[in-house]
Amino acid sequence: MKKILITGGSGLVGSSFIGEEFIHLSSKDGDLRNKESIKSLIEKTNPEGIIHCAAKVGGVLGNTKYPGDFYHDNIMMNTNVIEEAKNKGIKKLVFFSSTCVFPDEVEYPLSPEKIHLGPPHQSNYAYAYAKRMGQVQIQAYKDQHDLNYFTVIPTNIYGPNDSYDMENGHVLPSLIHKMYLARESGEDFIVWGSGNPLREFIFSEDVAKLTMNLYRDYNGNAPVILSTSNETSIKNVVLMIADIFDFKGNIKFDTSKPEGQYRKPSDNSVIRQMYPDFKFTQMREGLEKSINWFIENYKIARK
Ligand code: NAP
Ligand code: GDP
Repeated sequence: MKKILITGGSGLVGSSFIGEEFIHLSSKDGDLRNKESIKSLIEKTNPEGIIHCAAKVGGVLGNTKYPGDFYHDNIMMNTNVIEEAKNKGIKKLVFFSSTCVFPDEVEYPLSPEKIHLGPPHQSNYAYAYAKRMGQVQIQAYKDQHDLNYFTVIPTNIYGPNDSYDMENGHVLPSLIHKMYLARESGEDFIVWGSGNPLREFIFSEDVAKLTMNLYRDYNGNAPVILSTSNETSIKNVVLMIADIFDFKGNIKFDTSKPEGQYRKPSDNSVIRQMYPDFKFTQMREGLEKSINWFIENYKIARK
């Protein structure tokens, strides 16, 4: 049986594709910023298709501190993977973009035809432009070659095996790590910003399941948004995390820290129509799984 290659297979999303049909790659198998790496990995594994999850990923502060790295690493990885997949005759490829790519000022809800209508939010413009170009590359190659490639656009993802880096990581893994430490030390629990911004969180296993459904069923041109379309405030998830940890200490909001975009509600009508019976993991259940995973794997978790 020919297999499906998962780039970024050691990451939050990539590791959620579970089964014998997958070959999981990490940066230890090859640096995808180097074209020769993906070329030889495709030659070695001869896959049926590729799910391209690998990326340089980070939260609001990481993106602000290292825009050059976010631009370079992502543009190189995407350019190389998509180009070599095409050169090697790979017929199917899924490219992971993000709702960060949308213009900062745009009419809500976010939908794929609005991606290029204005500049992205300043906090992650370099990552966003690199991701936009990945989607453009996919479209250009589809127009020129007979390729069944498409882009998925997930909202904020969380789950086991995330990067729990408190400085440069995403909000939920950072908060889980900080809450774990605050509970041990009895110190105040500090949340960045006002807690008012809204996000649509999606559990990593739901992202993997929906992506595989689309891999089999979707032949369209437009990118597909992967989202629950349920907005939750940062304050609300903080309270949920505190409840799961049974945290009794003080919770403080530090408005000198980055606030990020206020909201980015998205239109999930394509997956709703294609998979009307799909059951999204409830936030409370997903958070419990993520927190349990973090506590059980504290020593090996990426921090
Ligand atoms: P992640 O947990 O940070 O994992 C990143 C993966 O990429 C890891 O497997 C990493 O390998 C690999 N990688 C990084 N640099 C590489 C390089 N130079 N060469 C080869 N492999 C490299 O990321 P994630 O959260 O799973 O994100 C998966 C995809 O979803 C990304 O494209 C991301 O942009 C997109 N996305 C994520 C979110 C989110 O909230 N997390 C939201 C929207 C979209 P190592 O483990 O060896 O470092
Ligand atoms: P974004 O969705 O791309 O903006 O990225 P993040 O995952 O970094 O989420 C940022 C939102 O969470 C902002 O409103 C931050 O102010 C808020 N936030 C609260 N505490 C934290 C934290 O410890 N880390 C991060 N990254 N964001 C936090």
